[in-house]
Amino acid sequence: MKKFMFVISLMIPVLLLCAQERTINVIMIGAHPDDCDLEFGGTAILFAQMGHHVKFVSMTNGDAGHQNMGGGHLAKRRMAEAKEAGKRFGVEYVVMDNHDGELMPTLENRLKIIREIRKWNADIVITHRPNDYHPDHRYTGILVQDAAYTVIVPNVAPDVPPLQKNPVFLYTEDRFQIPTPFRPDIAVIIDPVFDQKIYAMSAHESQFFEWLPWTSGDLDQVPADEKSRLEFLAGRRTSTPDEKTIDCLRKWYGDKADQAKHAEAFEICEYGRQPDDQEIKVLFPMLGK
Ligand SMILES: [Zn+2]
Repeated sequence: MKKFMFVISLMIPVLLLCAQERTINVIMIGAHPDDCDLEFGGTAILFAQMGHHVKFVSMTNGDAGHQNMGGGHLAKRRMAEAKEAGKRFGVEYVVMDNHDGELMPTLENRLKIIREIRKWNADIVITHRPNDYHPDHRYTGILVQDAAYTVIVPNVAPDVPPLQKNPVFLYTEDRFQIPTPFRPDIAVIIDPVFDQKIYAMSAHESQFFEWLPWTSGDLDQVPADEKSRLEFLAGRRTSTPDEKTIDCLRKWYGDKADQAKHAEAFEICEYGRQPDDQEIKVLFPMLGK
């Protein structure tokens, strides 16, 4: 018995270390190839740098996102851009073959999402809020909400084993007020990786240097050389924290919050597991650092 107790006592530090250093699996499910990058890219880099696993999923192939290109040709170009962005972020990037602008909250799409979340053995699932301006974003939010809880039900999509534990489901930040404004529960300072985020996002050339400037009527402002393009993109895609986000940052970082130039914020969805502050610190090991 004494020997047994001795062996157990030797194992305790190892078990504690394993508990603290376990790999965290994060999956973000966005509507288009570039949404995960924009909303979660900085935090994703921080997770990847710490050795955790991050996957970006785009529910559509982006084949409507251009002013003079479309269909399969554009879908292939956007798939290649997403793969390149994934490499630069240090994450896996999956693009589903649904048409851009036509995503529907069908049972088929819900089951695809359930399988993706299970195969990734996700601890954290991130998506859009379902009151976003874009129908593809809204329906992606609905589909992911419909997967919250059902990912643990063995008789739903029985070909992939259910998760043992319901993940924490989070929404990314947006500006929409009705029926409720976004509420930052978790906010991450991304200043140390902001330049890398911009570099990784710049892989989506068809979007940030062609389509989006065209939609805002200033395509003629896009510079030609790479260095100037990165500055152009950084100037347009700042993620300056607002008052509410600064308050949230103070909770997690203390005084350091007031120096933050760029942050990404997340709201906890009611349908997944409800983490307390202690668990949030384990799931987001970059908080406070
Ligand atoms: Zn989008």
